[in-house]
Amino acid sequence: MPAQLIDGKSLAETLRQQVGSRAARFLSLHGRAPGLTVILVGSNPASEVYVRHKVAACEKAGIASQLIRLDATCSSEALLEQIGRLNKDRTVDGILVQLPLPKHIAEKTIIQAIAPGKDVDGFHPVNAGALFTGQPCLKPCTPLGVMVMLEHHNTALRGAEAVVVGASNIVGKPLAMMLLQAGATVTLCNSKTQNLEEKTRRADVLVAAVGRPGLISAEMVKPGAVVIDVGINRLESGQLVGDVDFDRVARVAKAITPVPGGVGPMTIAMLLQNTLDAAESFASLST
Ligand code: NAD
Repeated sequence: MPAQLIDGKSLAETLRQQVGSRAARFLSLHGRAPGLTVILVGSNPASEVYVRHKVAACEKAGIASQLIRLDATCSSEALLEQIGRLNKDRTVDGILVQLPLPKHIAEKTIIQAIAPGKDVDGFHPVNAGALFTGQPCLKPCTPLGVMVMLEHHNTALRGAEAVVVGASNIVGKPLAMMLLQAGATVTLCNSKTQNLEEKTRRADVLVAAVGRPGLISAEMVKPGAVVIDVGINRLESGQLVGDVDFDRVARVAKAITPVPGGVGPMTIAMLLQNTLDAAESFASLST
């Protein structure tokens, strides 16, 4: 039987409407819309597209967005100055510095300069540490989107075997932590992992977050598994695909996310949700 499709696009749309209602309520209570500022350094074409989508999604949800463009040659000090100013600005609830940054700017230093309460990407070490220790925090958008999809799909996580392939700071590692806290037994794989297939075949929930088309074949998937494909790869033909051999794996899995239309739209929905969470949390502190 073919796998059930986990439709991230329609779930993200529902969540964005919910954020819209929260934003309208915030506006009526506080006399201003929640605010997100995005900083783009340089003009990386992929970053330009992501930033455009983020700003458009904000507008649609009633979040006041501001895009600050800095030249690719700008100094770390100039960027830090902007962040310092935004940290103090009470109309700015979320600050997002679009990555990657030009090579002469240290990403770690920049991320650490963002006030943790405004770090809507959830990359600041304070938020990462809070996630690690199970405390409330702003969580990275992509793994958070995966968890919301699994929850919405009623995927049992307590006692389940979850295998995450890919161990980056922005996707794999935080996702492993979230799955662990949901009661799953988690295996986190990376490029050095031996016998990857042996690990992935154990998974009741399998997540691929590597950036390699076709990495996960049908033979690597346990029949009846839930498969989440975070990967985004552009083939030479121009087609957008994930890390999972979708057509074949869909014959083995119980449920699967498509690419596009799976995790991608959820990431932006979670960014909007994080911005609202940050705004409401600020407002509750200042009243
Ligand atoms: P990354 O390059 O930072 O990390 C990749 C990880 O995969 C590393 O931990 C590496 O060790 C591991 N890896 C590499 N080859 C492997 C192999 N053969 N077997 C097992 N692990 C291997 O990448 P990232 O930023 O985490 O992104 C991963 C993918 O997810 C990319 O395709 C990216 O475009 C996509 N992505 C999608 C979204 C979204 O919103 N859908 C968001 C972020 C990233």
